[in-house]
Amino acid sequence: MLDLSRELGFRFDNSYARDLPGFYAAASAAPAPAPQLLALNHSLAGELGLNASALDSPVGAEIFSGNYAPPGADPLAQAYAGHQFGNFVPQLGDGRALLLGEVIDRNGQRRDIQFKGSGRTPFSRGGDGKAALGPVLREYILGEAMHALGVPTTRALAATATGERVYRETPLPGAVLTRVAASHIRVGTFQYFAARGDTAKLKQLADYTIARHYPDLAGEPNPYLALLAAVSDRQASLIARWMHVGFIHGVMNTDNMAISGETIDYGPCAFLDTYSPATVFSSIDRGGRYAYGQQPQIARWNLARFAETLLPLIDADQQAAIPRAVAVLETFGDRYDAAWLSGMRAKLGLLGDAQSGELDLANGFLAAMDGQAVDYTLAFRGLSAAARGDDSLIRPLFADPKRYDAWATGWRARLADPIASAETMNRVNPVYIPRNHMVEAALTAAVDGGDLAPFHALLAVLAQPFTPRPGLESYTQPAPRGSAPYRTFCGT
Ligand code: AMP
Ligand code: MG
Repeated sequence: MLDLSRELGFRFDNSYARDLPGFYAAASAAPAPAPQLLALNHSLAGELGLNASALDSPVGAEIFSGNYAPPGADPLAQAYAGHQFGNFVPQLGDGRALLLGEVIDRNGQRRDIQFKGSGRTPFSRGGDGKAALGPVLREYILGEAMHALGVPTTRALAATATGERVYRETPLPGAVLTRVAASHIRVGTFQYFAARGDTAKLKQLADYTIARHYPDLAGEPNPYLALLAAVSDRQASLIARWMHVGFIHGVMNTDNMAISGETIDYGPCAFLDTYSPATVFSSIDRGGRYAYGQQPQIARWNLARFAETLLPLIDADQQAAIPRAVAVLETFGDRYDAAWLSGMRAKLGLLGDAQSGELDLANGFLAAMDGQAVDYTLAFRGLSAAARGDDSLIRPLFADPKRYDAWATGWRARLADPIASAETMNRVNPVYIPRNHMVEAALTAAVDGGDLAPFHALLAVLAQPFTPRPGLESYTQPAPRGSAPYRTFCGT
C-alpha cells in the first residue's frame, strides 16, 4: 500500500494533544459528499515540508475537506473562553474548527494545521460547525494579503468545497479552510482555566506557551510577568502594523487575540478606504467598539484581561501580583507609540535618526486627511511622488487640497534625500490592498457563478503589494463613487 504520510510529506508532532490533556476534546471532521480543492497554497505547503504537487489532486481534496485524516494527525477541538464585545463567555471553544496537528516547518518553527468549517465538535453549541464558501475565500484572500504586506498572520493553506449546502439566511455552498498558525492559543484559552479557578492548568498552559513561543523567558526571575510583557510587545507591534496598512479586524474579542502575536480570525475585517478613525464595516459592531481608531485601546483592554488570568502565577499573593501586572500593562502605550512611529517614519520617508516633532508630523498627516474623503492607500502611495516634487497624485485626493499643502511644507523640509525617501516609502506603502469591492466581486463570482478566476487573479495581485504592474490599474482604485457603504458580516 502507498505510504501516504511519506508521499504527501505530513510529519506531525502533536504537542498540544500530547502535553495538554484536559485542554481540548478529541473530535473528527464531518464527511464531505463531493470535495473539490479550490485553492492550494503551494509555497506555504513547501514551507511546511508538504508535497504540494501530490496534494494538488483528488487526494488533496479528500484530505483538506476532512474526509481522510493523514497519518499522524490527531484531530481535536480546543477549549477556550472569551470576552465577546466586552461580555465574558466562560465556554466558547472550537465550535467549527479542528486542529489536525502540528508540523515543524523548514525553518524549525512549529505550526498548527487547522480546519475551519469541518463540522460539529463538543463546543458547537447550537451551531452546525460548517463554513460557507464566501467567508472561507475571504479569510484566504485577507490572510494572504496581510502576509504579503509583512503583517504577522495565520496563513491559508487550502480552500476546499465540500459539495454540501450550508444554511445561513439562504442555502450556500459549503467549504473548509485549512489554516496554518504559529499556534491557536488565545487570551481566551487562558481565560477558560482562570474562570474555573484551575491554577494548575493555567500554569501548565503558561509553561507550554512560554516553551513554544517565548523560550527565552523560561529563565526569567518571573517568567509569567515576562510573558505578559512579551505578549504586550508583540500585540503593540501587531496593532501598529494593522494601523499602518489600514486593516480593521472588526471583532477583537479576547478569543480572537493570539498569544503568538499573529492576526487571527478573519471574519468581518476589511481595509480602510477613506481615512477616518471612526470607520466600522462590521454589521454586528453597532457601537463602534472595534472601529479602526479604537484598535490600540482594545488591544490594551484585552491585555488587561490576559493579565488578570496570570495573576495567580505572577504571585501567590494577589495583592502583590496586581501592581506588578499593572506596571507592565502601563508600558503598552509606549510600546505601541514606538512601534507606530517607527512604521510611520518609513511610510513618510523620514530617514536616519529620529528627530523631535516626528510624532506630530505623522499625526498631522492623518489629521489633514480626516474628513476629506481621502483614500488612505492612494494617499500614502501618492506621497512618494510628492517626495520627488510631484504633487499631482496626492493633491486631488483631498476635498480641500490646501489641507495637504499646509502639512506638506513642514514634511518636505525634513526630507534630506527625497529620492531615497521615495524608495523607502515605496517599499512600505502598498499599491495593492484587498479593496473591499474587489474582494466582494471575487467572492460573488465564486459563490454565485462557480467562477474562481477572479479569486485567483486577486490573490496573484495581492501577493506582490508593493510592485506596480501594468494592466492591474483597476485593482488600485477605490470603489466607484456612489457605491453603497461597505458592510461586512460575521456569518462564517
Ligand atoms: P468567531 O466569530 O470565529 O470568533 O467564533 C466565536 C465562537 O462561535 C467560537 O467558539 C466558534 O467556534 C463559534 N461558532 C461560530 N460559528 C459557528 C458555527 N457555524 N458552528 C459552531 N460554532 C460556531
Ligand atoms: Mg474566533
